Amino acid sequence: MSSVTWPFTEEHEQLRKSIRDFVEKELAPHASEWEEKEYFPDWVFTKLGEAGFLGLAYPEEYGGSGGDYLTTIVLAEEIGRCNSGGLAMAVGVQTDMAVPPVHKFGTEEQKQRYLIPALKGEKIFCLGITEPNAGSDVAGMETTAKKVDGGWVVNGRKIFITNGARAHAMTLIAKTDKEAGHAGMSLFIVDTDTPGFEVARTLEKLGMHSSDTAEITFTDMFLPDDALLGNEGEGFYNISWELQGERLIGAAGTIASSRRVFEAALAYAKERHTFGKPIGKHQVIRHKLADMATEVEAAQQLVYTAAWKVNRGEYPVREISMAKLLTGLVSWKVVDAAMQIFGGYGYSMEFPIQRAWRDSRLIRIGGGTDEVMRDVIGKMEGL
Ligand SMILES: Cc1cc2nc3c(=O)[nH]c(=O)nc-3n(C[C@H](O)[C@H](O)[C@H](O)COP(=O)(O)OP(=O)(O)OC[C@H]3O[C@@H](n4cnc5c(N)ncnc54)[C@H](O)[C@@H]3O)c2cc1C
Repeated sequence: MSSVTWPFTEEHEQLRKSIRDFVEKELAPHASEWEEKEYFPDWVFTKLGEAGFLGLAYPEEYGGSGGDYLTTIVLAEEIGRCNSGGLAMAVGVQTDMAVPPVHKFGTEEQKQRYLIPALKGEKIFCLGITEPNAGSDVAGMETTAKKVDGGWVVNGRKIFITNGARAHAMTLIAKTDKEAGHAGMSLFIVDTDTPGFEVARTLEKLGMHSSDTAEITFTDMFLPDDALLGNEGEGFYNISWELQGERLIGAAGTIASSRRVFEAALAYAKERHTFGKPIGKHQVIRHKLADMATEVEAAQQLVYTAAWKVNRGEYPVREISMAKLLTGLVSWKVVDAAMQIFGGYGYSMEFPIQRAWRDSRLIRIGGGTDEVMRDVIGKMEGL
């Protein structure tokens, strides 16, 4: 019987194998060092670019591989095998968050200048949405871009910006018309060496240690007219589109990691003995593992349904929101149960469970919280 399962094909599985080989050989051996020291090095982006993994679903004319959307899901599932959630997240920001708007809304000149080097891993991107006073409420942002002769002058600040300390470019959303509500925001591409762009600080976090997270300030930062990405006034709608890809890729990566955590807990439950038998033979542990297996399976199928719909050209906001919510809840439950199964070793820094436990908590906050997902789902149910 073929090992290929829905919604993937033989080609997707070949791609999976080549990404897995790369991740296990090139990235995983360094994960602990990168987690404990100063972030992972920039060469990770260029090596991933050389291997073609940053442009899997982008057109060949810009250096991509011209693959379908499911190739992106394969990457999200496999990159987590490096055992560093921070690295996986940083790569996801490049492939599925900051760069897709450049491809979808950018001019040909912008694609030549930014998309091509981004897919090569030569230009690292970050995404600037969240602000100190506006996270879930994106439209409450205070960063402004004021129209002046020949361009825009930007003032404000963004916080929690993944890749922010190392990026060459930022996909930025700012208010261009304070009176126009949702139609008063626009996207820009910002070169991070523009005068007025400053990395104010990097933030210490509970997990995702190998990834840099920055607070950025903009002080009278002049952007030329051609820095505008997409049409003026359409930034909110365009970033809402971007967030769908961000959420689905986050959900795919999260549940794949949860499956690996489950598998580790299962293996441990077979080998660790207490009271004369493997702990997995105690009914309490067996049932816990059965629940973990069931919930991971269900959440992963929901991710695949959403991804399959995207692959068919649909825009399944409902399923994506559900997948983001459910994978976050399941992943937290699974990783916490796994820590319990590993006992004291789970809590020890010598075992990787603690890292997965810390890293996995973020998905319920980043890219739209559980509560925001429930609001979106509720609205789509007519509430
Ligand atoms: C490690 C990390 C990396 C990140 N990377 C990026 C990045 O690269 N780019 C970027 O732009 N952002 C990034 N973020 C920011 C992230 O997307 C936000 O933290 C998230 O959207 C929540 O915003 P907030 O922190 O301001 O929380 P708030 O919006 O202040 O929410 C606080 C709490 O109130 C709840 N809440 C808010 N509104 C409602 C409501 N209407 N009903 C019910 N409950 C509500 C929320 O669910 C949450 O529980 C990152 C965050 C972290 C921690």
